[in-house]
Amino acid sequence: GSESVEGQTYVIGTDTTFAPFEFRQNGELTGIDMDLLRAIAEDQGFEVEIRSLGFNAALAALSSNQVDGVIAGMSITDERKEIYDFSEPYFESGVQMAVAANNDEITSYEDLKGKTVVAKTGAEGETYAKSIAEEYGFQVKSLDQSATMYESVKAGSAVAVFDDYPVLAYGIAQGNGLKTVTDKVPGGSYGFAVNKGENTALLAAFNDGLAELKASGEYQQILDSYLADPT
Ligand code: GLN
Repeated sequence: GSESVEGQTYVIGTDTTFAPFEFRQNGELTGIDMDLLRAIAEDQGFEVEIRSLGFNAALAALSSNQVDGVIAGMSITDERKEIYDFSEPYFESGVQMAVAANNDEITSYEDLKGKTVVAKTGAEGETYAKSIAEEYGFQVKSLDQSATMYESVKAGSAVAVFDDYPVLAYGIAQGNGLKTVTDKVPGGSYGFAVNKGENTALLAAFNDGLAELKASGEYQQILDSYLADPT
């Protein structure tokens, strides 16, 4: 392990409901991000104290140094690279739109004219929805949690949600009452973030640990435990 992180405890912020990356099961924080972080910490000899804050709140906590790092299905983007340093990418993602499973009226962005969609405050889904809102004539309402966004689509207060496609796909496969009708928009891969120029030893240890988990097969095992097709 990296010597300077050994025995240290780092406070790490994360999202609240972003299955399969972070979510609660029987009250315990679980998911791909949580398993990866804990396995990396163990491999590199440091401790983590995880704070389930919500995505935007986790980024704010990082910016104000209330947490040392963020792992939250957080996309590596050029804009964010101006203020954060990212680990090596650990998962490919991007944005997609979903509607209620019983909605046959919205099958394209054109059908959003005059309607309201939801997206997550500070997330790539929000940035993407806002970037096409004027062109297609719809409103974007921002909410803090994926679970709340999905509920508002099912309840009909919004016609569609823009969120990360691995998260939408996982929820849909679990029967969350949504469906996707438009193509995926390729986006940034996920990375672990620290403030620019800070916690360099932690970031290096994360990268070293990630490389170790990839080499040992544990990285793939963690992914498979959430994503593998059971058939
Ligand atoms: N990947 C998206 C982003 O980084 C969403 C992350 C999230 O909602 N936790 O903006």
